[in-house]
Amino acid sequence: MYTDKHGNTWFKGNLHMHTTDSDGAMSPEDAIALYRENGYDFVAVTDHRQFCPPRDAEGILVLSGGEYNTGITPAEGLVHIVGVGMTADPKGSTEDSTQVLIDKVHRAGGIAIWAHPAWSLNAPDFIEKYEGIDATEIYNSVSGFPRNVRPDSSLITDMLAMRGKPLKLAAADDTHFYECETCKSYIWVKAENCTREAILDAIRAGDFYASQGPRIEAFHEGDTITVETTPAASIAFFSDTVWVEDRVHIEDGITKAVYTIGEKDTFVRAEVIDADGNKAWTQYFSV
Ligand SMILES: [Zn+2]
Ligand SMILES: [Zn+2]
Repeated sequence: MYTDKHGNTWFKGNLHMHTTDSDGAMSPEDAIALYRENGYDFVAVTDHRQFCPPRDAEGILVLSGGEYNTGITPAEGLVHIVGVGMTADPKGSTEDSTQVLIDKVHRAGGIAIWAHPAWSLNAPDFIEKYEGIDATEIYNSVSGFPRNVRPDSSLITDMLAMRGKPLKLAAADDTHFYECETCKSYIWVKAENCTREAILDAIRAGDFYASQGPRIEAFHEGDTITVETTPAASIAFFSDTVWVEDRVHIEDGITKAVYTIGEKDTFVRAEVIDADGNKAWTQYFSV
Protein backbone atom coordinates (compact mmCIF):
# COMPACT_ATOMS: atom_id res chain seq x y z
CA MET A 1 0.00 0.00 0.00
CA TYR A 2 1.12 3.54 -0.62
CA THR A 3 -0.43 6.95 -0.24
CA ASP A 4 0.04 9.41 -3.12
CA LYS A 5 0.56 13.17 -2.88
CA HIS A 6 -3.21 13.73 -3.02
CA GLY A 7 -3.76 11.45 -0.02
CA ASN A 8 -5.21 8.57 -2.10
CA THR A 9 -4.37 5.05 -0.97
CA TRP A 10 -3.27 2.44 -3.51
CA PHE A 11 -3.28 -1.32 -2.93
CA LYS A 12 -1.06 -3.84 -4.72
CA GLY A 13 -2.44 -7.08 -6.09
CA ASN A 14 -1.93 -10.10 -8.32
CA LEU A 15 -5.18 -11.38 -9.77
CA HIS A 16 -3.91 -14.42 -11.67
CA MET A 17 -2.04 -17.33 -10.08
CA HIS A 18 -2.17 -21.10 -10.04
CA THR A 19 -1.45 -23.54 -7.25
CA THR A 20 -1.21 -27.29 -6.66
CA ASP A 21 -5.02 -27.31 -6.96
CA SER A 22 -4.35 -27.23 -10.73
CA ASP A 23 -0.98 -26.97 -12.52
CA GLY A 24 0.87 -24.62 -10.15
CA ALA A 25 4.00 -25.63 -8.25
CA MET A 26 3.05 -24.25 -4.83
CA SER A 27 0.18 -24.88 -2.41
CA PRO A 28 -2.44 -22.13 -2.10
CA GLU A 29 -1.35 -21.40 1.48
CA ASP A 30 2.33 -21.06 0.58
CA ALA A 31 1.58 -19.01 -2.55
CA ILE A 32 -0.59 -16.56 -0.61
CA ALA A 33 2.09 -16.27 2.10
CA LEU A 34 4.76 -15.63 -0.54
CA TYR A 35 2.83 -12.73 -2.06
CA ARG A 36 2.04 -11.31 1.38
CA GLU A 37 5.75 -11.42 2.29
CA ASN A 38 6.49 -9.52 -0.92
CA GLY A 39 4.24 -6.62 0.02
CA TYR A 40 1.04 -7.52 -1.80
CA ASP A 41 -2.23 -6.30 -0.27
CA PHE A 42 -4.50 -8.68 -2.19
CA VAL A 43 -4.41 -11.71 -4.48
CA ALA A 44 -6.85 -14.01 -6.22
CA VAL A 45 -6.11 -17.72 -6.58
CA THR A 46 -7.31 -18.61 -10.08
CA ASP A 47 -6.78 -22.31 -10.69
CA HIS A 48 -7.93 -23.74 -14.02
CA ARG A 49 -11.57 -24.67 -14.59
CA GLN A 50 -12.61 -24.43 -10.95
CA PHE A 51 -13.93 -22.02 -8.36
CA CYS A 52 -11.29 -21.11 -5.78
CA PRO A 53 -13.29 -19.63 -2.90
CA PRO A 54 -12.19 -16.58 -0.92
CA ARG A 55 -9.92 -17.38 2.02
CA ASP A 56 -9.25 -15.83 5.38
CA ALA A 57 -5.54 -15.07 5.55
CA GLU A 58 -3.54 -12.93 7.93
CA GLY A 59 -2.45 -9.60 6.47
CA ILE A 60 -3.69 -10.07 2.88
CA LEU A 61 -7.08 -10.04 1.15
CA VAL A 62 -7.65 -13.29 -0.77
CA LEU A 63 -10.38 -12.89 -3.38
CA SER A 64 -12.12 -15.81 -4.99
CA GLY A 65 -11.06 -16.73 -8.50
CA GLY A 66 -10.97 -19.19 -11.34
CA GLU A 67 -9.61 -19.37 -14.90
CA TYR A 68 -12.03 -20.74 -17.48
CA ASN A 69 -11.16 -21.61 -21.04
CA THR A 70 -12.77 -22.31 -24.37
CA GLY A 71 -11.14 -23.78 -27.46
CA ILE A 72 -7.82 -25.58 -27.81
CA THR A 73 -6.14 -23.74 -30.68
CA PRO A 74 -6.09 -20.04 -31.63
CA ALA A 75 -7.80 -20.91 -34.93
CA GLU A 76 -10.84 -22.32 -33.14
CA GLY A 77 -10.89 -19.50 -30.60
CA LEU A 78 -8.67 -20.33 -27.65
CA VAL A 79 -9.76 -17.99 -24.87
CA HIS A 80 -8.87 -17.85 -21.18
CA ILE A 81 -11.17 -15.81 -18.95
CA VAL A 82 -10.06 -15.10 -15.38
CA GLY A 83 -12.96 -14.50 -12.99
CA VAL A 84 -12.20 -12.67 -9.74
CA GLY A 85 -14.28 -11.85 -6.68
CA MET A 86 -17.29 -14.08 -7.32
CA THR A 87 -19.48 -14.72 -4.28
CA ALA A 88 -20.58 -18.10 -5.60
CA ASP A 89 -19.25 -20.74 -7.98
CA PRO A 90 -19.98 -19.43 -11.49
CA LYS A 91 -19.89 -23.03 -12.74
CA GLY A 92 -17.86 -22.21 -15.82
CA SER A 93 -17.38 -25.11 -18.23
CA THR A 94 -15.21 -25.77 -21.28
CA GLU A 95 -18.51 -26.35 -23.10
CA ASP A 96 -19.49 -22.70 -22.54
CA SER A 97 -18.96 -20.05 -25.18
CA THR A 98 -16.71 -17.13 -24.26
CA GLN A 99 -19.70 -14.79 -23.82
CA VAL A 100 -21.42 -17.30 -21.57
CA LEU A 101 -18.29 -17.54 -19.40
CA ILE A 102 -18.08 -13.75 -19.06
CA ASP A 103 -21.78 -13.57 -18.20
CA LYS A 104 -21.51 -16.40 -15.65
CA VAL A 105 -18.64 -14.58 -13.86
CA HIS A 106 -20.75 -11.41 -13.73
CA ARG A 107 -23.85 -13.22 -12.48
CA ALA A 108 -21.73 -14.68 -9.67
CA GLY A 109 -20.69 -11.14 -8.66
CA GLY A 110 -17.19 -11.17 -10.13
CA ILE A 111 -15.17 -9.30 -12.72
CA ALA A 112 -14.10 -10.95 -15.99
CA ILE A 113 -10.51 -10.42 -17.14
CA TRP A 114 -9.50 -11.47 -20.67
CA ALA A 115 -6.18 -13.22 -19.96
CA HIS A 116 -2.99 -12.98 -22.06
CA PRO A 117 -4.48 -12.19 -25.52
CA ALA A 118 -1.03 -12.27 -27.15
CA TRP A 119 -0.19 -15.71 -25.76
CA SER A 120 -3.59 -16.93 -26.95
CA LEU A 121 -3.15 -15.22 -30.36
CA ASN A 122 -6.56 -13.55 -30.02
CA ALA A 123 -7.04 -11.06 -32.86
CA PRO A 124 -8.68 -7.66 -32.19
CA ASP A 125 -11.64 -8.42 -34.49
CA PHE A 126 -12.23 -11.61 -32.52
CA ILE A 127 -12.05 -9.99 -29.05
CA GLU A 128 -14.24 -7.03 -29.99
CA LYS A 129 -17.27 -9.29 -30.48
CA TYR A 130 -17.56 -9.86 -26.73
CA GLU A 131 -19.32 -7.66 -24.19
CA GLY A 132 -18.53 -7.16 -20.53
CA ILE A 133 -14.74 -7.59 -20.48
CA ASP A 134 -13.81 -5.73 -17.28
CA ALA A 135 -10.06 -5.69 -18.05
CA THR A 136 -7.37 -7.49 -20.00
CA GLU A 137 -3.74 -8.32 -19.30
CA ILE A 138 -1.46 -6.01 -21.21
CA TYR A 139 1.35 -7.99 -19.62
CA ASN A 140 1.36 -11.57 -18.32
CA SER A 141 4.64 -12.57 -16.63
CA VAL A 142 4.60 -16.31 -17.30
CA SER A 143 3.87 -15.72 -21.00
CA GLY A 144 7.43 -14.38 -21.32
CA PHE A 145 10.89 -15.91 -21.03
CA PRO A 146 12.13 -18.44 -20.11
CA ARG A 147 9.14 -20.67 -20.93
CA ASN A 148 7.04 -18.54 -23.32
CA VAL A 149 7.52 -15.73 -25.84
CA ARG A 150 4.51 -13.39 -25.92
CA PRO A 151 4.03 -11.65 -22.57
CA ASP A 152 3.07 -8.28 -24.04
CA SER A 153 -0.40 -7.79 -25.51
CA SER A 154 -0.13 -4.05 -26.10
CA LEU A 155 -0.33 -4.24 -29.90
CA ILE A 156 -3.62 -6.13 -29.65
CA THR A 157 -5.07 -3.74 -27.06
CA ASP A 158 -3.95 -0.70 -29.10
CA MET A 159 -5.68 -2.10 -32.18
CA LEU A 160 -8.84 -2.62 -30.11
CA ALA A 161 -8.60 0.96 -28.84
CA MET A 162 -8.23 2.15 -32.44
CA ARG A 163 -11.47 0.29 -33.23
CA GLY A 164 -13.21 2.17 -30.41
CA LYS A 165 -12.93 -0.62 -27.83
CA PRO A 166 -10.29 0.45 -25.32
CA LEU A 167 -10.06 -2.19 -22.61
CA LYS A 168 -8.86 -1.50 -19.08
CA LEU A 169 -5.29 -2.66 -18.72
CA ALA A 170 -4.07 -4.97 -15.97
CA ALA A 171 -0.88 -6.96 -15.49
CA ALA A 172 -0.49 -10.23 -13.63
CA ASP A 173 2.04 -12.98 -13.04
CA ASP A 174 -0.17 -15.96 -13.98
CA THR A 175 2.17 -17.71 -11.54
CA HIS A 176 2.72 -21.42 -12.26
CA PHE A 177 6.37 -22.28 -11.60
CA TYR A 178 7.13 -19.90 -8.72
CA GLU A 179 10.35 -19.00 -10.44
CA CYS A 180 11.19 -15.68 -12.08
CA GLU A 181 7.59 -14.96 -13.11
CA THR A 182 6.70 -14.51 -9.45
CA CYS A 183 5.99 -11.05 -7.98
CA LYS A 184 6.89 -9.41 -11.29
CA SER A 185 3.75 -7.79 -12.77
CA TYR A 186 0.80 -6.48 -10.76
CA ILE A 187 -1.83 -3.80 -10.42
CA TRP A 188 -2.08 -0.85 -8.07
CA VAL A 189 -5.72 -0.15 -7.20
CA LYS A 190 -6.90 3.20 -5.84
CA ALA A 191 -9.42 2.48 -3.10
CA GLU A 192 -10.36 3.73 0.33
CA ASN A 193 -9.73 0.34 1.88
CA CYS A 194 -8.65 -3.13 0.89
CA THR A 195 -11.96 -4.96 0.91
CA ARG A 196 -13.51 -7.10 -1.82
CA GLU A 197 -16.18 -4.49 -2.53
CA ALA A 198 -13.78 -1.53 -2.69
CA ILE A 199 -11.21 -3.34 -4.85
CA LEU A 200 -13.79 -4.68 -7.34
CA ASP A 201 -15.59 -1.32 -7.57
CA ALA A 202 -12.28 0.46 -8.24
CA ILE A 203 -11.33 -2.02 -10.97
CA ARG A 204 -14.75 -1.66 -12.63
CA ALA A 205 -14.26 2.12 -12.52
CA GLY A 206 -10.76 1.90 -14.03
CA ASP A 207 -9.09 3.29 -10.90
CA PHE A 208 -5.99 1.14 -11.23
CA TYR A 209 -2.85 0.74 -13.30
CA ALA A 210 -0.47 -2.05 -14.20
CA SER A 211 3.15 -1.98 -13.08
CA GLN A 212 6.35 -3.88 -12.53
CA GLY A 213 7.96 -1.14 -10.44
CA PRO A 214 7.33 2.50 -11.37
CA ARG A 215 4.54 4.30 -9.51
CA ILE A 216 2.73 6.58 -11.90
CA GLU A 217 -0.06 9.09 -12.21
CA ALA A 218 -1.63 10.15 -15.50
CA PHE A 219 -4.21 12.79 -16.24
CA HIS A 220 -5.97 14.45 -19.14
CA GLU A 221 -6.21 18.24 -19.10
CA GLY A 222 -7.33 20.25 -22.11
CA ASP A 223 -5.40 18.98 -25.12
CA THR A 224 -2.64 17.31 -23.12
CA ILE A 225 -1.99 14.05 -21.31
CA THR A 226 0.51 14.31 -18.46
CA VAL A 227 2.35 11.39 -16.89
CA GLU A 228 4.21 11.68 -13.61
CA THR A 229 6.34 8.83 -12.27
CA THR A 230 8.86 7.80 -9.69
CA PRO A 231 12.31 8.37 -11.29
CA ALA A 232 12.48 6.35 -14.50
CA ALA A 233 14.46 6.05 -17.73
CA SER A 234 11.74 6.78 -20.30
CA ILE A 235 8.12 7.79 -20.77
CA ALA A 236 6.49 6.93 -24.09
CA PHE A 237 3.04 7.85 -25.39
CA PHE A 238 1.02 5.53 -27.62
CA SER A 239 -1.77 6.79 -29.86
CA ASP A 240 -3.34 6.07 -33.23
CA THR A 241 -1.41 8.76 -35.04
CA VAL A 242 1.49 6.92 -36.65
CA TRP A 243 4.10 9.68 -36.57
CA VAL A 244 4.40 11.97 -33.57
CA GLU A 245 7.61 13.92 -33.06
CA ASP A 246 7.74 13.96 -29.26
CA ARG A 247 6.21 10.57 -28.50
CA VAL A 248 9.23 9.23 -26.61
CA HIS A 249 11.00 10.97 -23.73
CA ILE A 250 14.31 9.39 -22.66
CA GLU A 251 16.19 10.90 -19.74
CA ASP A 252 17.98 9.51 -16.67
CA GLY A 253 15.68 9.97 -13.70
CA ILE A 254 12.77 11.36 -15.75
CA THR A 255 9.71 12.06 -13.55
CA LYS A 256 7.28 13.81 -15.91
CA ALA A 257 6.30 14.09 -19.56
CA VAL A 258 3.47 15.82 -21.40
CA TYR A 259 1.83 14.71 -24.65
CA THR A 260 -0.16 17.07 -26.84
CA ILE A 261 -3.16 15.24 -28.24
CA GLY A 262 -3.07 15.18 -32.03
CA GLU A 263 -5.97 16.15 -34.26
CA LYS A 264 -6.44 12.58 -35.47
CA ASP A 265 -5.80 10.80 -32.16
CA THR A 266 -8.73 8.84 -30.78
CA PHE A 267 -6.82 7.27 -27.90
CA VAL A 268 -3.65 7.90 -25.90
CA ARG A 269 -1.91 5.76 -23.29
CA ALA A 270 1.62 5.77 -21.89
CA GLU A 271 4.31 3.36 -20.78
CA VAL A 272 7.04 4.19 -18.29
CA ILE A 273 10.26 2.15 -18.13
CA ASP A 274 12.69 2.44 -15.21
CA ALA A 275 16.46 1.98 -15.23
CA ASP A 276 16.05 -1.76 -14.52
CA GLY A 277 13.66 -2.27 -17.44
CA ASN A 278 10.52 -2.51 -15.27
CA LYS A 279 7.44 -1.03 -16.91
CA ALA A 280 4.26 0.70 -15.81
CA TRP A 281 1.23 1.23 -18.04
CA THR A 282 -1.42 3.93 -17.82
CA GLN A 283 -5.01 3.22 -18.76
CA TYR A 284 -6.35 4.40 -22.12
CA PHE A 285 -7.54 7.95 -22.46
CA SER A 286 -10.28 8.35 -25.07
CA VAL A 287 -9.63 11.75 -26.63
ZN1 LIG B 1 -4.38 -18.81 -19.18
ZN1 LIG C 1 -3.48 -18.78 -15.83
